[in-house]
Amino acid sequence: MKITERLKKPGKLFSFEFYPPKTEGDGRKLCETIKDLKVLGPDFVSITNSSTGVSPYNTVALSGVIKEKLGLEVMAHLTCIGHTKAEIADISGRLKAMKIENVLALRGDLHNIEGFAPKRDYKYASELAEELAATGAFSIGVAGYPEKHPEAPDFETDIRNLKAKIDSGAGFVITQLFFENRFYFEFVNKALKAGVTVPVLPGLMPLTSYNQLRNFTKMFNIALPRAVTANIEKYAGDKASLLKFSVNYATAQAADLIKNGAPGIHFYTLNRSKATKEILKNLRYRYA
Ligand code: FAD
Repeated sequence: MKITERLKKPGKLFSFEFYPPKTEGDGRKLCETIKDLKVLGPDFVSITNSSTGVSPYNTVALSGVIKEKLGLEVMAHLTCIGHTKAEIADISGRLKAMKIENVLALRGDLHNIEGFAPKRDYKYASELAEELAATGAFSIGVAGYPEKHPEAPDFETDIRNLKAKIDSGAGFVITQLFFENRFYFEFVNKALKAGVTVPVLPGLMPLTSYNQLRNFTKMFNIALPRAVTANIEKYAGDKASLLKFSVNYATAQAADLIKNGAPGIHFYTLNRSKATKEILKNLRYRYA
């Protein structure tokens, strides 16, 4: 089912994000994770795309396997910098043949990786969204940034650029992760005022290691409340307590988002099931 259609139906939407495995061992772990999470009945799962262009077809291949073999609804991520126009035309055909109806149109992360030259056929995600929309085959999502995209000069400009993505044919937004819900609510209000009336799915990620705390906040330019940093530091050497804290924190965050009108939750799983499973169980128990 197209995600835009699902979003018109009653009931909160829950989705899980995975990345294509790099090794055989990672592949086996991912299979376990997906099987583990499948029983929770996600509305869709999404498969990220390595923007380094090293393996542009891994996303497509994994999406096809999950759809066909596991019967899960899938959203494939596609990036401007990972693909040429010819590749996008080819990939669109493959996705259609595999009956995959959902794509997330992204620019891609600009890493400084030696030997990697970003593709230049599309500059911004809006251009990719427009091209994918023209096929008429997909429900298209785009990324949104409750704390502003790091490269944008100011919030207003960033929201105007978000509106351009919607005008290019996107039907929903999935947000960057955040740890303070006020950023999401302010973002949704600002976007609405700028004419972005499509659903905005909040993206949540429970932190399960001290390294994640360091890496993600640096990479994504997101604010961390003192309560989060203090507890992650406190439990840095105690995995069980850290997981418990993160699950409780994310459960409270998700419950507040849902109670106050978010259409559902998109979980960044990092290919692990434990935290997401616990949070979803807590939520369903609370809202059943
Ligand atoms: P854009 O919407 O193109 O915006 C990029 C920047 O350009 C912004 O600052 C924007 O304000 C500005 N801009 C946009 N249009 C214009 C314009 N016309 N003129 C001037 N400025 C403009 N990355 C990956 O590599 N692979 C993934 O699978 C992946 N999945 C993601 C999933 C989600 C839910 C999210 C939130 C992000 C994901 N990313 C992924 C990261 C994303 O690619 C990066 O954040 C990237 O830096 C921006 O992508 P975008 O699609 O938001 O770009």
